[in-house]
Amino acid sequence: MRRFADRVAVVTGAAQGIGAATARRLAAEGATVAVVDLDLDRTRGTVDEIVAAGGRASGHGCDVTDGPAVVELIDRVVETYGRLDILVNNAGITRDNLLFKMPAQDWEAVLRTNLTSMFHCCQAAQRHMVAARYGKIVNLSSRSALGNRGQANYAAAKAGVQGFTATLAIELGPFNINVNAVAPGYIATAMTAATAERVGLRPEEHQQRAADQTPLRRVGQPEEVAAVVAFLASDDASYVSGQTLYVNGGAR
Ligand code: NDP
Repeated sequence: MRRFADRVAVVTGAAQGIGAATARRLAAEGATVAVVDLDLDRTRGTVDEIVAAGGRASGHGCDVTDGPAVVELIDRVVETYGRLDILVNNAGITRDNLLFKMPAQDWEAVLRTNLTSMFHCCQAAQRHMVAARYGKIVNLSSRSALGNRGQANYAAAKAGVQGFTATLAIELGPFNINVNAVAPGYIATAMTAATAERVGLRPEEHQQRAADQTPLRRVGQPEEVAAVVAFLASDDASYVSGQTLYVNGGAR
């Protein structure tokens, strides 16, 4: 399948995990991918994998919470490749704690990285997409948006992503721009491995507990989220907009 031949995509937080899998998937289907992460050096692994597989990618160091830096990044991508068709807002962090112990800076950091970053990236990208009358934006929400003990900050940010997504779909729809979100359940990445460590479990034990509560009886893999992001970023989903698609093994 070459659904993204001639398309240019930006994927944030793409040095590892779901972002890296998404960058690889879009590139495998023909997209030129700007692989964005905090540290330029850490983007090299993903870029090298894509290039080794015959794809096109470049690495970009950018803190997506920094509005002016994001504008510079998006403009550089458009200057280099002549267009921007797909934006995947994937960068995210957790700073879990029960409310009564949560430092205000952890509340702020999670809101800024998981939600405000999307404001910066979408605002910068939409200028080019509106002019081209074409665009696909996919935002990473989470099952935690429905509520999760110890994640008041993260749940608020990820629920915010869903409202933000629904609203952008209304505002940008007239310009042929689709805006959707995916809300993964438990996906085996460095993020969930860090959560396991924090609660004193090995990643495999932590994953087994999550699997036991999931109808499909296993946790998800980054590639399984990437496949759904790719669908939403493609013209196969041309009449889908404003939606949040849960990718969580059937958990309610
Ligand atoms: P990872 O922690 O494995 O990867 C996230 C990447 O984002 C890291 O490379 C990280 O860099 C980068 N990043 C963090 N802050 C910034 C920033 N300010 N600017 C640029 N890049 C940044 O996460 P996952 O792959 O697990 O998750 C990806 C997305 O999916 C996140 O939005 C997450 O909330 C969401 N999600 C994940 C789930 C899961 O179970 N794994 C479930 C539901 C949603 P660094 O390592 O240097 O901080």
